Amino acid sequence: MLNRMELRPVSNPPNPWLSSEVEYFDEIPAARLEVYEDHSRSILAGNDSPDLGFKWSVNPYRGCFHSCGYCYARPTHEYLGFGAGTDFDRKITVKPDAARLLREAFEKKSWTGELIVFSGVTDCYQPLEASYRITRACLEVCAEYRNPVGIITKAPLIERDLDLNGGVTPRIEDLACDYCLNTGHKTLLHIAG
Ligand code: SF4
Repeated sequence: MLNRMELRPVSNPPNPWLSSEVEYFDEIPAARLEVYEDHSRSILAGNDSPDLGFKWSVNPYRGCFHSCGYCYARPTHEYLGFGAGTDFDRKITVKPDAARLLREAFEKKSWTGELIVFSGVTDCYQPLEASYRITRACLEVCAEYRNPVGIITKAPLIERDLDLNGGVTPRIEDLACDYCLNTGHKTLLHIAG
């Protein structure tokens, strides 16, 4: 089983959006955590997929330290000029303006209070959230505006923010949480099923 703290050599497939690629002739360096600030001017991402039960999502980060090999979001990192392999796992962008941008979106007359789902191309409770608290700040805005929220995560750090759904004021009125459980353990699979 992969140890998330283990240093692995840099390994990325060729990025189809770049005209050049990196090749190492000597020892391949280890993929180490690098954090980049993303100052996007909007935080709500819309989709019209018939497969999803929601239109709006918020990604406080891009890339994900959890490093799941099966992650469908990996190719989205290539749009940033990074790789879909270890770059996705260790070159992570943070959006420090996310809560302010969310508040601005809620203030628009056109906003009708639709469900917004956290995560999609990241895990909003990956380890960086413990110190950056960007997801927490966004949820506080959702609580203030009584906006319904869905959260997709596999991280226990979500427990830190249960107070926002647990009777404090303001609190999130309508919170749905999908928890990812990766296991081959027969008993756990039986419980989850
Ligand atoms: S936790 Fe989710 S976003 Fe993160 S690597 Fe795994 S599948 Fe991708």
